[in-house]
Amino acid sequence: MNLVFLGPPGAGKGTQAAVVSQALGIPHVSTGDMFRKALKEETPIGLKAKAFMDKGELVPDSVTIEMVKERLSEDDCKNGYLLDGFPRNLDQAEALATFSQLDAAVNIAVADEKLIARLSGRRFCPKCSGTFHVSKLADEKTCPDCGAELIQRADDNPATIANRLSVYHKETSPLTAFYAQKGLLKEVDGDQSMDDVSAAILKALAVNL
Ligand code: AMP
Repeated sequence: MNLVFLGPPGAGKGTQAAVVSQALGIPHVSTGDMFRKALKEETPIGLKAKAFMDKGELVPDSVTIEMVKERLSEDDCKNGYLLDGFPRNLDQAEALATFSQLDAAVNIAVADEKLIARLSGRRFCPKCSGTFHVSKLADEKTCPDCGAELIQRADDNPATIANRLSVYHKETSPLTAFYAQKGLLKEVDGDQSMDDVSAAILKALAVNL
């Protein structure tokens, strides 16, 4: 199954993608994680992406589309994949359609006020890519899944959060209409418990399984 997860930053795409990709036995392909890894390893892609990521802007399509095209051509994506964070604009969605056919696009919807609270209290595990909210952590410093030291993402600061939300509304939100028109859109309410959101996604996808 070839899937895309849509939704604003902080909607829980990464968390849900980890659960759903495991349930379906397909790789979780997160462009944000790919860029963060490239940045940490100081690869040419990472160095190009840094300035855009720091400001909450989209990395140029010329870099992003090629990176995704290469990743989806790898063997583990032959029987399906779950894309998280791509496409982020109409040009990326149109490019994706030229090299892969989607089975569904899941939109995880959450209101902006909730997103700001979620993003500003978010902690990230650089080792296993787990994402947690401070309100749910007994120990704010350690990853409950793998024990690594948690960090606050550089782009989870108030100015960058505001910019990422504005970029989302301008560039990414039109994708819901784009995929609805193609009959691929599955809408899910992201303002529920983590388990309920996972169940709602799996239920929505079962229609197409
Ligand atoms: P995310 O982890 O999905 O919130 O992505 C973090 C940052 O990586 C974004 O704010 C962008 O700077 C960059 N990024 C991730 N995915 C894309 C994409 N599909 N197109 C352009 N930039 C992206």
